[in-house]
Amino acid sequence: MDFKLTEEHIMIRDAARDFANNELLPGVIERDDKQEFPTEQIKKMGELGFMGMMASPEYGGGGMDTVSYVLAMEEISKIDASASVVMSVNNSLVCWGLDTFGNKEQKEKYLTKLTTGESIGAFCLSEPEAGSDATSQQTTAIDHGDHYILNGTKNWITNGRTADFYLVIAQTDREKKHKGINAFIVEKTWEGFEIGPKENKLGIRGSDTHSLVFNDVKVPKENRIGEDGFGFKFAMKTLAGGRIGIAAQALGIAGGAYELALKYSKERKAFGTEICNHQAIAFKLADMHVSIEAARLLVMKAAVDKDNNGNYDLSGAMAKLYASQVAMDVSVEAVQVHGGNGFVKDYHVERMMRDAKITQIYEGTSEIQKIVISRSIING
Ligand SMILES: Cc1cc2nc3c(=O)[nH]c(=O)nc-3n(C[C@H](O)[C@H](O)[C@H](O)COP(=O)(O)OP(=O)(O)OC[C@H]3O[C@@H](n4cnc5c(N)ncnc54)[C@H](O)[C@@H]3O)c2cc1C
Repeated sequence: MDFKLTEEHIMIRDAARDFANNELLPGVIERDDKQEFPTEQIKKMGELGFMGMMASPEYGGGGMDTVSYVLAMEEISKIDASASVVMSVNNSLVCWGLDTFGNKEQKEKYLTKLTTGESIGAFCLSEPEAGSDATSQQTTAIDHGDHYILNGTKNWITNGRTADFYLVIAQTDREKKHKGINAFIVEKTWEGFEIGPKENKLGIRGSDTHSLVFNDVKVPKENRIGEDGFGFKFAMKTLAGGRIGIAAQALGIAGGAYELALKYSKERKAFGTEICNHQAIAFKLADMHVSIEAARLLVMKAAVDKDNNGNYDLSGAMAKLYASQVAMDVSVEAVQVHGGNGFVKDYHVERMMRDAKITQIYEGTSEIQKIVISRSIING
């Protein structure tokens, strides 16, 4: 067992760290405050190859492994979790889904634009009545020979307005239940496609979350991904990998909050000494450090499982469940270490605490991860 990163991994991690510090840190507080999408920064991330890291080079992707992706996600998330969710959806849901399950024509038409950041993608599974229970899809796509007619509403869609292409999951045959679900590539400009107002969120406020409405949208048959009835499997396989990205996001938020708390504790004095010399604070830092290292091991294990073509459903769920709890705990404690300064925006940790919460909700809540984990350990 080798815990060492390769030189290439270190290079990617350092490039992401530099980018985050130089390009994302300036303005991150204001973007959060104003709910402003990091348009210029995402464009640069595309130019630097951060938007299609794991996709095939043939289609403009970086051809990198999941470990590289996780390292970059962690660094970007340390500074700006709003930017990293855009990166995460584009990389592990949209690009990976299309690269793995799309056909050559779909990849040439769509993936080549998504990997370079020229276009942004969105992944549309959740609905008003179908969140954790993703099989209850109410959106329908009715077969009309050479095309489908799509009707319904999707909720909470990340990159909802900024995306150009949307992977939309819909029910094509209700009698077949989850085997009657398909996934489609939908273009923003198609008639009948409407974007709802932006959600006003607790955290990741720089990201762009919308509901989407489809009114008789005509989707050509060639835009269906995979065989008829493959949509639910497509969504579940894609989300299983996506969870590793969200686990890395949680790890980054925790790491960012910890680094700020450590630094602050060495500068702030109380009772004649730096606060890190008070054992209550020192022990908080020790707990933060240990839990972050433990989360990192779980995240890396899941990434390595995926790179080795192993089964990563269990390791990905464990990584997300644990890392998201660590992100929550560490960011709350980082606010505590900062005292009153932790409660105001200038010190960043209050934003991290708000951002951390979403990692326990999207791409499967913590309760759903526990269902995945318990089923796996009970049924083997
Ligand atoms: C900011 C943001 C961005 C998002 N981005 C996207 C996106 O890009 N694409 C997309 O498709 N979706 C997206 N989502 C949706 C997200 O994945 C769902 O919110 C999440 O899956 C939970 O679904 P729900 O909100 O309907 O909650 P519900 O499913 O209604 O769950 C409510 C509560 O009940 C619990 N619960 C439900 N079922 C069970 C059970 N069987 N056992 C125990 N507990 C249970 C849940 O854990 C939760 O605590 C996003 C959400 C947010 C807030």
